[in-house]
Amino acid sequence: MKITKIHTSKLENVDFNNLQFGRVFSDHMVVCTYTSGKWSEPEIKEYQPFSLNPATHVFHYGQAIFEGMKAYNSKEDKTLLFRPLENIRRLNKSAKRLCMPEIDESIFLDSLTKLIEIDKKWIPKKENQSLYIRPFMIATSEFIRATPADEFTFCIITSPSDKYYAGESNLKIEEKYSRSAPGGVGFAKAAGNYAAAFGPTKEAQNKGYTQVVWTDASEHQYIEESGTMNIMFLINNTIVTPELSDSILGGITRDSILEIAKSKGIKVEERKISISEIVEAYDNNNISEAFGVGTAVTVNPIDSITFRDKKMDFRYTSDSISLQLKSDLLNIQYGISKDENNWTLTL
Ligand SMILES: *Cc1c(COP(=O)(O)O)cnc(C)c1O
Repeated sequence: MKITKIHTSKLENVDFNNLQFGRVFSDHMVVCTYTSGKWSEPEIKEYQPFSLNPATHVFHYGQAIFEGMKAYNSKEDKTLLFRPLENIRRLNKSAKRLCMPEIDESIFLDSLTKLIEIDKKWIPKKENQSLYIRPFMIATSEFIRATPADEFTFCIITSPSDKYYAGESNLKIEEKYSRSAPGGVGFAKAAGNYAAAFGPTKEAQNKGYTQVVWTDASEHQYIEESGTMNIMFLINNTIVTPELSDSILGGITRDSILEIAKSKGIKVEERKISISEIVEAYDNNNISEAFGVGTAVTVNPIDSITFRDKKMDFRYTSDSISLQLKSDLLNIQYGISKDENNWTLTL
């Protein structure tokens, strides 16, 4: 690995009491390029702009995938990563679907851990702060023929991030637009999935909602995800979440929350959930919580879900299952409680 460290850190210019998500980036980045059928040795160098030819493939055909993960600073001042191999495997799953080259787990993990070690001072230390990590891959061939690229860049950048204040979550069940479809790329963390979601989300926000609940593209009858998070419900004291399919992204938070719930003796069901089941359970007072799960927020309790004219409200107390699961997960991620599942990688 080629490592070129910078001389003067930008760290002093950063106000760690006022971090806006994803706007400040640490001193270094990982860059690794793919040409002639193989990946180069990864390089760690100063965070800096790319210079790209206007014909660069990604600008035209959107071969772009990414990951989202975090590094945590423990009380003992250790750096902790949460299930990083799962992110690597998912990136490779996305790569395969988007016709991009997979990357060696060891190249990814070695360069990632080295980068985090070099920029360790960038991991914020206040409660629930973390260093957000954004690995991504783009097609960099310089031609605009509509065929897959044969040159790619893999890059990792990091951004100190604060405790996430999601504010109130008032969701609308989306029955017109779709985030993803059977046979599509919904299971992949493809940049284009986000591009396709911005318009419908904005439309919902103009009507006063904070996000949409995506439903299946064929019938708009079954619940899929909540914005860019997986969704869970507490129905008759059982956690119910949509089963994974090619139109749902398999979140690492989703998997972790389900495991934690099971270990607490909470019943868990992964299956199809229809909108009418949710409405009926709500009318019968059988549904007590609804929450989104994802790396950025961990667990985000949903305040209301609106289906057509019907607004379903949910209330939370410190006894709520979703909030208990949230603190259980955070306690593992920050190394406060015992990591029974061997999820944490300590640097
Ligand atoms: C990233 C993402 C999630 C959450 O995945 P995590 O691994 O838990 O962060 C859920 N849904 C979509 C659409 C996503 O892009």
